Amino acid sequence: MPAGLRRLLGFVTIVLAVPVAAAWSASDDVPPHESLFEDDALALLAEDPAYAAVVADPRVVCLPDAGDPNAPLVEFVFVTSNPKARLPEKEMVATAAWVDHIFAESAATHSPGSFRAVRWAQKQVGPDRCVPAVRKVVVDDPGFAQWAKPNGSWSRFRRSILEAVGSQPSAPRRYLVWVDFHKPGYCGHGEMPADTRPDPEVNHANRSTQIAVVYSGCHGRINATEAHELVHTFGAVLPVAPHADDAHCGDHYDRMCVGAAKRAVCGEDVWRRLLDCGGDDYFNPGRPLVGKNGKRYWNTADSVFLTSERPSWWPAVDNEAQSKPKKTGQVPPAKQPKAQPEQKKRTTGASIETFSDSVGHVFAGEIAQLTAAGITRGCGPDRFCPDQPVTRGQMAAFLVRALDLPPADTTFADTKGHTFAADIAALARSGITRGCGPDRFCPDQPVTRGQMAAFLVRALRLDG
Ligand SMILES: [Zn+2]
Repeated sequence: MPAGLRRLLGFVTIVLAVPVAAAWSASDDVPPHESLFEDDALALLAEDPAYAAVVADPRVVCLPDAGDPNAPLVEFVFVTSNPKARLPEKEMVATAAWVDHIFAESAATHSPGSFRAVRWAQKQVGPDRCVPAVRKVVVDDPGFAQWAKPNGSWSRFRRSILEAVGSQPSAPRRYLVWVDFHKPGYCGHGEMPADTRPDPEVNHANRSTQIAVVYSGCHGRINATEAHELVHTFGAVLPVAPHADDAHCGDHYDRMCVGAAKRAVCGEDVWRRLLDCGGDDYFNPGRPLVGKNGKRYWNTADSVFLTSERPSWWPAVDNEAQSKPKKTGQVPPAKQPKAQPEQKKRTTGASIETFSDSVGHVFAGEIAQLTAAGITRGCGPDRFCPDQPVTRGQMAAFLVRALDLPPADTTFADTKGHTFAADIAALARSGITRGCGPDRFCPDQPVTRGQMAAFLVRALRLDG
């Protein structure tokens, strides 16, 4: 599949081919599942008030048995081959807290009063106050860096990480790994144990060590690729799930579902960040899951890597779900996708129709054309966010794609390391932007209509 098409699809998975076996060994680890998240989304979503509140005061649930070397824990590690690399501790701690929020809000929404949060390897920093024990791990095994290449070997990469972190076979672990390289086209990979047995005592997902990886460029922030990849490592989405679609689900849009069927099961946009909108495919603390074969199967709410003990400081998430759809202010249920004749006309490839949130929108036709031309990639899996403002950085990306501008490495003081740094450089090099002040571009500022006029005049050479 061409890279552009893959990106448009949001999430793409490797087909799961390992059958469920009664006996498991380390070699049963299945290929990882990849996730792609749109760069354009990262800048957009930081407005969510729930996210802002969590990252302003990040903390995780303190576990009485966290010091037990055999306790099941999720270790959050930053792995690099550069001994001088900075450990992004603050960002990792905030990410862990946000991931917990996603689990807790999902649990409470499925089953009021229930609670789930990740069992992080942690350190206590105050009375009943813990943060994840994040650490930097330096690898010198070439098996690590080779994975950045398109045909890299997952097993060599995996081995280099497990060795470097000092993984002990006796203790079930999840390693949530921030790697310091970019893997072109991907945000993350997560291993998925494919054991359908519903019993938490025996299920392989509860007894094994698996890794979830997130690449630079996609670390943290509201998208939380970390949550998606961790849920894979907890054992989802199994092929037996009613709406299974290659290790994801296809019945709607949620943290693991790619919405291929475009059925508005939940009808609320809030589910895009939560787990299992129908409560029937991979995560439901309130009831067992029943598979396509009519039998009970593995529910990741029973993961040994999650705690159900809600600490007293936890905010009352039970009531949050009702108010969330208003807060996100995106697609009201009435505008959920319907099969419209013009939707077919816009199809550019096997599975692209249009973005779920642009169906029926006044600019739906233009958005589809822009997508087909490869100029936009949307703001998230199957989303365009048609009513959100555009930032100057996003505008740069659109113009670079539209005009196919050559790459450049000019930088402004405020674009170094920015998601859109390369696009902004190309735009500056082509004389389309002069920045927003001396040596500044203001990439996260919205584009005003006046600036837009200036960009377009220069881009289209209307200024002679
Ligand atoms: Zn995935």
